[in-house]
Amino acid sequence: AGGIRIKALSKRYGQGETAVQALRQVDLQVAAGEVVGLIGPSGSGKSTLLKCLGAVIEPSSGRMVLGDDCIYDNGWRVRDLRALRRDRIGFVFQAPYLIPFLDVCDNVALPAMLAGTANAVARRRAGELLEALDVQHRARALPAQLSGGEQQRVAIARGLINQPPVILADEPTAPLDSERALAVIAILNNMAQQFETAVIVVTHDEKIIPTFRRLYQIRDGQTRETAGEGRPLG
Ligand code: ADP
Ligand code: ADP
Repeated sequence: AGGIRIKALSKRYGQGETAVQALRQVDLQVAAGEVVGLIGPSGSGKSTLLKCLGAVIEPSSGRMVLGDDCIYDNGWRVRDLRALRRDRIGFVFQAPYLIPFLDVCDNVALPAMLAGTANAVARRRAGELLEALDVQHRARALPAQLSGGEQQRVAIARGLINQPPVILADEPTAPLDSERALAVIAILNNMAQQFETAVIVVTHDEKIIPTFRRLYQIRDGQTRETAGEGRPLG
């Protein structure tokens, strides 16, 4: 019963003559355990859709269901949006936004600690994720000492640590080479299957687009579902 579904979701910015209709009656569903791609040109509405899915901005109309809970139906149904974002949605941003004075391990462990996991357990789980993402050797370094690609992998580990039912990833592989980009997608697929996570990956990255089994193309705020190549990941 996991996954995320939206139905006829629309978003307009502003009023009157200067209004921008960023999303028009978008339908989308991602099942528990599934990883889908979201592709579209700049200005087509990708960021807006991701922000609506993540309960960062309020849609203008439509319906959104997370697991068994209706969270939006022409208005928020969930009272505590902060708790929703903290506990049920994992964000992986294009820019890593790591905390500069915490080492890599604690940056990854922090969301688990904030959710009440014992520090030692959180750090152990962080270490396992860092290992899976091949940055374990940087666990004691500060973010500024890492390359851009290493920082990105650390940010991905942080987004995964609480095993949220939904992961929203915005261009997660942009700065990575081909091998590492595919490794990130493999990890997201493993996570999705192991923890029944629904994963949505916004991307332009030609290295990873052939790996998706299913994609949504967005253009002028409207989505179209397409079959992907579903190329196996090694
Ligand atoms: P993408 O992520 O695909 O580049 P966006 O969702 O950022 O697309 O933007 C979709 C449309 O909505 C664009 O026309 C953009 O200019 C407009 N838009 C996005 N955010 C805002 C905002 N906060 N206020 C007004 N217009 C916005
Ligand atoms: P990207 O395509 O990398 O996501 P964008 O340029 O679309 O970046 O958007 C960057 C930020 O600016 C987003 O938060 C978006 O909502 C906001 N934004 C985009 N277009 C507008 C606009 N016309 N007015 C106000 N904010 C905007």
